[in-house]
Amino acid sequence: MTERTTFFNTPLSYLKGLGPQRTELLNKELNLFTYGDLIQYYPFRYDDRTRFYTISELMESMPSAQVRGRLRDWYFEGEGPKRRLVATFTDGTGTMHLVWFQGISAIEKFLRREGEYVAYGKPQSFNGQYSIVHPELQNVTPDAEIEQGFFPVYNLTEKLRRRHLDSKMIGKIMRILLELSWNHIRETLPEALIQQYRLIGKREALWNIHLPQNQAWLRQAERRLKFEELFYNQLRLIMNKLMQKEEYPGQIFRKTALMTHFYKELLPFELTGAQQRVIKEIYVDFCSGKQMNRLLQGDVGSGKTIVAFITMLMAIGNGAQACLMAPTEILADQHYNGLKPFADALGLNLGILTGSTNQKRRRVLHEELQSGQMHIIVGTHALLEDVVQFKNLGLCIIDEQHRFGVAQRAKMWAKNPTVPPHVLVMTATPIPRTLAMTLYGNLDVSVIDELPKGRKPIKTVHKYDKHRSEVFGFMRQQIELGRQVYVVYPLIEESEKLDYKDLMDGYESIQRAFPRPKYEVGILHGRMLAYEKDDEMKRFVKGETQIMVATTVIEVGVNVPNASVMVIESAERFGLAQLHQLRGRVGRGAEQSYCILMTGYKLSSDTRTRLETMVRTNNGFEIADVDLQLRGPGDLTGTQQSGIMDLMIADLAKDGPILTAARESAQRILEEDPNLVLPQHAPIRNHLDSIKQTESNWSRIS
Ligand code: ADP
Ligand code: MG
Repeated sequence: MTERTTFFNTPLSYLKGLGPQRTELLNKELNLFTYGDLIQYYPFRYDDRTRFYTISELMESMPSAQVRGRLRDWYFEGEGPKRRLVATFTDGTGTMHLVWFQGISAIEKFLRREGEYVAYGKPQSFNGQYSIVHPELQNVTPDAEIEQGFFPVYNLTEKLRRRHLDSKMIGKIMRILLELSWNHIRETLPEALIQQYRLIGKREALWNIHLPQNQAWLRQAERRLKFEELFYNQLRLIMNKLMQKEEYPGQIFRKTALMTHFYKELLPFELTGAQQRVIKEIYVDFCSGKQMNRLLQGDVGSGKTIVAFITMLMAIGNGAQACLMAPTEILADQHYNGLKPFADALGLNLGILTGSTNQKRRRVLHEELQSGQMHIIVGTHALLEDVVQFKNLGLCIIDEQHRFGVAQRAKMWAKNPTVPPHVLVMTATPIPRTLAMTLYGNLDVSVIDELPKGRKPIKTVHKYDKHRSEVFGFMRQQIELGRQVYVVYPLIEESEKLDYKDLMDGYESIQRAFPRPKYEVGILHGRMLAYEKDDEMKRFVKGETQIMVATTVIEVGVNVPNASVMVIESAERFGLAQLHQLRGRVGRGAEQSYCILMTGYKLSSDTRTRLETMVRTNNGFEIADVDLQLRGPGDLTGTQQSGIMDLMIADLAKDGPILTAARESAQRILEEDPNLVLPQHAPIRNHLDSIKQTESNWSRIS
């Protein structure tokens, strides 16, 4: 192994000034064992003590500020736990308070009337009066040096702080380590990339991330380290993907008469440019001889179903079978009903398998799939069962992918023991591009970024509960015009009982406001039996009910073009992605559609942002980006990302542009030099080796 690896694998106990007890603490509290671990333990923020603020300049938005002034006097206030020491501090531009709740007597001893001090902390304002609670206070005397500069703040535990391992101390230790490491730090990026993106060197970056000389250097250090992190993240994902492609052959599907016939005779509309492009991308995969693993992203209503059907025709025309799996029975039914007329017209055998398919029918389906008589099967999780076997499964399409896990995808793979089926995963949950690249870096991604012609953008408004009668009036007016309305209530497990009551109360009050026989109101929720749900849905599809009161069971995929109003009750309780999904249930026909977000008056600022975003835009990708900013990447995707998302410094919510650049660079380099043998790529090779070595060390430990 290289010298680099051995040096950075040195146990922390060798570091001068640390000692065995502190070493043990760093091991236990922060999982830091080696020089390499510590040097990569980056500060999570910095105290800017490069400048002084006057009291008149203070603002509440400042995370912290340092003020130089004179201590007038001090007094005690409050009783018991609220007892505090308040000092009056002035600098000629104004007066502020310094406040302590703890260690009051020790602090009082330190205070000198009319003494000059530097106070540092977070400014707060109350009735125009600024104060800092528990400021850091330094006495200004002729021989004391005032601390100035840019100080790292590390994420530390109480235990560490009690042993005097505070940020200041870690900074000192870091300086020792950096000096010691200086000659061992190797550049990890090829010179060409450093030039192209004007990055600073690895050494300078490590130094300045811990001990920045100033803001400008800090920014450069961050940029460089983020780029490096994302570059290696993408490089490894792409390498995995390339390996996967080598390993799995795929059936070859070429254009057939079946497809041409469909295009000529049956296609009910002209495909959008985006649909055509995506079909071509999939076709190229089908001709490659390699197994396809593709994610198809398309906003709600962008027309993914027809794309799915056309690709299934390619498979069938070439003698293979196809399956289409949906997360709910309602959706599976809808796909089945939507595709059935096409299948019939083409003379294809299309079946459906869900939880409510009876035993007798199941047996027939199983047989027909195994004998190859059945061409396409649509279904739910029921398709995953081992008894479901095919003669030659060539294409597996998974709709609304976020409800399926990786394990389930793997199960579908196994359904063709000779050649694994091509896999197309379709999602309407727009994942921000940055996140998709990282999460699904090992899938190919296609995007339908265009809605069919003639769609009118949905008009979205935010209304307070108080305006319900106005909203009812609007609903009546729309129903007069022949349209249908959804009213959706939240229902989450933690508060299921209450939510259920809200739903029922709402249902009753809507029935009162929209009485029979003039109106029919339907209801749909998860506690109903499958056939009851089915009946309700059918009645709504047929237009027999004008209003559908529902929980989020209607969230994904349901397609009723005549429904043009979506009222979302307690909209503050839904996440952005969900609101967007729900809204996507309307706006599917030619009529102007509306989405009305109902809330109470009490709203947090995040909630306001969510509602404003919904009102402002219909663009799923824009919404997903805001969602990412609000929630951070972890929440968006559940557990799928573990492992890939271990980013130490890059932030997917903010570093999209760096990620894009890093990904492009990684792609370009691997295209030019897949095995990284060129001399200019030696830094990459070496770094990959050292990452692998570190990882194998870790697996030995844990
Ligand atoms: P999603 O992408 O949300 O699954 P769907 O496939 O359900 O969208 O399509 C939504 C609606 O748009 C359907 O009624 C479908 O028939 C229609 N549609 C799809 N593509 C086109 C097109 N190119 N032109 C006109 N209508 C289309
Ligand atoms: Mg769909």
